[in-house]
Amino acid sequence: MFKFKIGDEVKITAGREKGKKGKIEKVLPKESKVVIGGINVYKRHKKVTRTQPAGIYEITRPISIASINLICPKCGKTTRVGFSMEGKTKNRICKKCKSRITVKE
Ligand SMILES: [Zn+2]
Repeated sequence: MFKFKIGDEVKITAGREKGKKGKIEKVLPKESKVVIGGINVYKRHKKVTRTQPAGIYEITRPISIASINLICPKCGKTTRVGFSMEGKTKNRICKKCKSRITVKE
């Protein structure tokens, strides 16, 4: 089970965006990466093609989950994600306040 889900609030803990906060927009479990809105945005100049005009395009690059920490929606602290079993359901829990982490997608 991937630790992060779309809609999670996270804080960046390493790299050029260190200290910033954002919301996960996309998860890439195979690469252990996530795309966070407004984080790791690169500008790329593009030439005219048949389908697009020339100009500067902004590309949000995925960031490694090793460089982010979840912000717990309950206690508001940066935390590590734990898991707990409730019957057959595996839930994510905040390691600090032990509350279940749910996101509205
Ligand atoms: Zn918490």
